[in-house]
Amino acid sequence: MIDGGEAIRKLALNVARYTGLAPLAKPFIGGIGAILMLHRVTATPEKPDSVNRHLNIAPGFLDAVIADMKASGYAFVSMDEAVERIKVGGKGGEFATITADDAYRDNMTEALPVLEKHGAPITIYVAPGLINGTADLWWDVVEDVVNARDSLTLTRPNGPLTIDCSTPAKKLQANARLHAYLTSEVREEDLQAVLRDLARSNGVDADGPRQRTLMSWNEIRSIAAHPLVAIGAHTINHSNLKRLSEADARHEIGAVRDILQAELGEKPSHFAYPYGYASAVGCREVGFVRDAGYTSAVTTRHGVLRAEHSGFLHALPRISVNGRYQSLAHIRTMLSGVTTPLANAGKMVVTI
Ligand SMILES: [Zn+2]
Repeated sequence: MIDGGEAIRKLALNVARYTGLAPLAKPFIGGIGAILMLHRVTATPEKPDSVNRHLNIAPGFLDAVIADMKASGYAFVSMDEAVERIKVGGKGGEFATITADDAYRDNMTEALPVLEKHGAPITIYVAPGLINGTADLWWDVVEDVVNARDSLTLTRPNGPLTIDCSTPAKKLQANARLHAYLTSEVREEDLQAVLRDLARSNGVDADGPRQRTLMSWNEIRSIAAHPLVAIGAHTINHSNLKRLSEADARHEIGAVRDILQAELGEKPSHFAYPYGYASAVGCREVGFVRDAGYTSAVTTRHGVLRAEHSGFLHALPRISVNGRYQSLAHIRTMLSGVTTPLANAGKMVVTI
């Protein structure tokens, strides 16, 4: 799950402004390749107007993106191969690798046929807690709660807070307010309990979104056996690692490998930081992931890959294929590298 807010809107504005410049800039700042980031891939989302619709693209758009990138010379490779290519500074030509976070069932039913058509590998990052129910797709549950009510009351230590959800505009604000509440006011360790309380008291099933949209272990085992698919780790409980103690963060990063090995028979070698933005991953977390022995780790920071990333294999940026902006021009502009420094205060080599 990623931030669907201000950063992406700003980036979209910049993309629109720089689209004409992109073809000229690409030879100079296009970098050596890109890691694409997906979440859901479905033509029939349950809630087409969802506040979380940035997390979903249509399979037809995925097809178009891969075809377009192939036509312009990108080789689609596995994450293992991408790491090898980064290590040698991109010799061997421009490459792309596809990643998908959270293990949505539609990755199997709707994305995989597209990937098979193109022979394009994918790494799917799994948080076992989301599959087992020790963690929730809280952003979906929040949306369901807000949609269910005209008004909500949060019981907080410093007094109750009533949130107006009576109109579509108020519902948008209420979603943002609840995101801020759950990701900054509530302790990371308490997030699930607070969310489930909120869901229960408003008549919403907190398990619904997980069970409806994520794969079961049997489904994950089945997709993991596919030659184009690798399973990566996404912490145990989809935790914001920066908000955890060192011991808890190291446990979320290390023990998830053992859980995935027990379920799938193989230890994952690649990692994705949940949320992946600056307030969820910093130097400390990158160090923990490196210490745990992963080959690579990806953030949700925006950027193309550059030869310099050989020194930063545990803080690799990605290009989000965002459901709100499903246009090839948008993808081409981002791949040109022109938006990389724009989204990162002038930095060309984006790490954390
Ligand atoms: Zn995630």
